[in-house]
Amino acid sequence: MNKRLTVKFATLTACFERLEATSSQNEMTTLLARLLAAATPDEIGIVCYVVLGAIGPGYSDVNLGIGDRTTAAAIALAAGTDPAPVEAAARELGDYGDVAVRLIATPATGPLPVADVHRGLVEIAGASGPGSVEVKKNALAALLTAATPPERRYLSRLAAGEMRLGVGEMTLLDALAEAFLGSKAERPALEHAYNISSDIGLVARMLLEEGLPGVQAIAVTLHRPIRPMLTQRVARISEILERIGSPVIAVEEKYDGERIQAHKDGDDVTLFSRRLTDVTGQYPDIVRHVRRSISVDTAILDGEAVAFDHATGTYRPFQTLMRRRRKHRVSEVADEVPATYRAFDLLYADGESYLCRSYPDRRARLEEILVGDEHISPAGRIVTGDADGITAFYLSCIERGLEGIVCKSCAEDSFYRAGAREWQWIKWKSDYAPGISDTLDLVVIGASAGRGKRAGTYGSVLCAAYNHEEDLFQTVCGMGTGFSDVDLADLPRRLAGARVDRQPARAMVNPQAAPDFWFEPRYVVEVLGLEITQSPVHTCNWDPERRRGLALRFPRFVRWRDEKGPEEATTAAEIAAIFRRRWGV
Ligand code: AMP
Repeated sequence: MNKRLTVKFATLTACFERLEATSSQNEMTTLLARLLAAATPDEIGIVCYVVLGAIGPGYSDVNLGIGDRTTAAAIALAAGTDPAPVEAAARELGDYGDVAVRLIATPATGPLPVADVHRGLVEIAGASGPGSVEVKKNALAALLTAATPPERRYLSRLAAGEMRLGVGEMTLLDALAEAFLGSKAERPALEHAYNISSDIGLVARMLLEEGLPGVQAIAVTLHRPIRPMLTQRVARISEILERIGSPVIAVEEKYDGERIQAHKDGDDVTLFSRRLTDVTGQYPDIVRHVRRSISVDTAILDGEAVAFDHATGTYRPFQTLMRRRRKHRVSEVADEVPATYRAFDLLYADGESYLCRSYPDRRARLEEILVGDEHISPAGRIVTGDADGITAFYLSCIERGLEGIVCKSCAEDSFYRAGAREWQWIKWKSDYAPGISDTLDLVVIGASAGRGKRAGTYGSVLCAAYNHEEDLFQTVCGMGTGFSDVDLADLPRRLAGARVDRQPARAMVNPQAAPDFWFEPRYVVEVLGLEITQSPVHTCNWDPERRRGLALRFPRFVRWRDEKGPEEATTAAEIAAIFRRRWGV
């Protein structure tokens, strides 16, 4: 076993350079495994966060939040120049890391210990209130001055929120398994702990300190989000019962709002979004409803925030609720667009995890502890074993302005599977197009240059599905239609934060589909299409022998799905299922 010493930030940056130079997923895992094996218990969590471009778990408020302008100002200060040359170099190089290396000429006093860099960054993140921009700038400039050139590159990228190493959480879990359990086949044990804690640094620390038993002891904890259970889809509504496989199922109303996991700890309530960020400040009304209406002291609920118009008794569109996504004028907008909470699951109550209880048990307890009213209530539903009953309920939902239904297993083993997309939950939305019963959520990984009327923006974007087994983004279509003029003109700005100058390691693209511009898999877009067909071009579910993948025909832009992360996009397996059902193969 490697001897553990204090890891220098320079060791990390040397590894990052090698990660960026490889396009092999296996090599990436091995490089990361070596890096992790050398870390001490105090450092290993930090190493994980930094690899993912962060300084703490995604849900915590240890968010660097420095932004381009302060990063540029810090580089200028460290380089002893005005902001103007920094801005000019940023325009030319398109990357603050390269700008810092080019402009800061002072000799380094580093290499810096990882823990010191992290401490510095946490302090920067914590600075708030008047004068905090200045504090952040000065502290970052001090770190940059002390750092070696490669350290400057990655410090600047980290600060600007542009690490772009192309390492996903699953690859990092593979690397942890390889480093400490001998093989990445052991990933599932780590994945489970990650799914219930949403903190990869914690999983790494427990693994290093206490081995697998330590990881298995990680428990559901209040104010730490659980990764949400996800839904599957089918091609025909008549397949739902058979797919779920329990004699009766619950058919719940599907709300088109924002998924919110609510943690109640006495009077202290924390709300997490689907991407597990803390959105407590955005929904003071939901905080009040949860505090007031849950009869037990501690609880974790899963549910949806919706904008419901009590005067007319109708649901307002998703876009209306999105006005609540703001940091300023919160209470004013909360008065204009009050949020209603529809709870559809109970994950924890009175000090106990409910994840390993069946859905009927969880729901029964939810109904006992939630004293519902017009502002907060359990999701509307029926329980049935009758296919016609499902269709009738679905139609009544559509009539009432809902998006569709979510059908849920009532079997004994219908546990809450954190982070998983399995056949226990199946959604059915309005029939948009023959062949596909639902839109797809795809990840933008490339774009073609716009010509003619589209000069200055992109002509089309290259969209990919997520292959969970292989942790790859596989292409499904190039999409150039459905955009309004405003959406089109805005494309370069919207995607700028994910621009990279070569093919990301996790993007699987055939040479003939190679785009003019590449993007790190980050932005998710909802796409409407006609049908899934086989394709020699696209790599979704690529069959190397027959040299064919699956593609979406006639894709049209619907909307951006900023609340979804790339790993929550439609999976390659879901697309394969749609294809098989459509063509009966
Ligand atoms: P989609 O975003 O289209 O993939 O659909 C899944 C989402 O539907 C979930 O993440 C929830 O935010 C939302 N949803 C609305 N109503 C329900 C419900 N009754 N059960 C589960 N998810 C629901």
